[in-house]
Amino acid sequence: MEKVLQYKAALEKRGFKVRVFESAAQVKETLLVEIPEGATVGVGGSMTIEELGVEAILRAKGHEVYWHWKSSPAERAEVTAKAFLADYYLMSANAIYCDGSLWNIDGNGNRVGTMIGGMGKLIVVAGKNKLTEEDPVARIKRDACPKNAVRLGLKTPCALTGKCTDCASPDRMCKLTVELKNPPTARNMEVWLVNEDMGY
Ligand code: SF4
Repeated sequence: MEKVLQYKAALEKRGFKVRVFESAAQVKETLLVEIPEGATVGVGGSMTIEELGVEAILRAKGHEVYWHWKSSPAERAEVTAKAFLADYYLMSANAIYCDGSLWNIDGNGNRVGTMIGGMGKLIVVAGKNKLTEEDPVARIKRDACPKNAVRLGLKTPCALTGKCTDCASPDRMCKLTVELKNPPTARNMEVWLVNEDMGY
């Protein structure tokens, strides 16, 4: 927990609101209590949120959940737009650097676009494996991109070799790199740090 508390302090120094959780189970319990009845929920592409297993429960409780991963290609544009407008948006960070900056890469831009300018409350859930003292982009390209590329069946060099070649593939998932040095002005957001590994 000491490391998580150090990163909490670094994020807070930059103006982020931060909450700390011992476990993913605690995060799940809290989310299900705090998202009020009738609220709509958007989700960014995130193994962390997938692992939490909240989507099915939220739907069973009557919430409308907009998650492009769970939509057909024909529905995707509408689901993405609805996620941008939703009352809550759940995602993770690809990395949180020790100076308190928050890093994400994206291919389409829907996730980072909603992170920056979405309408609802943003909750960024990050396990302790996302906290890094090394170059955050290096961490993302080594630990996240190859696994995501394989999972999504993308035709990128990192899917084949596990190594980044700074490719120009149409499937490149890191076309965008976004560093939040501070929370965007007027953005209603919280970072929830978890003392467990979550996602990658
Ligand atoms: S630039 Fe290409 S090879 Fe490198 S991590 Fe991104 S998708 Fe993979």
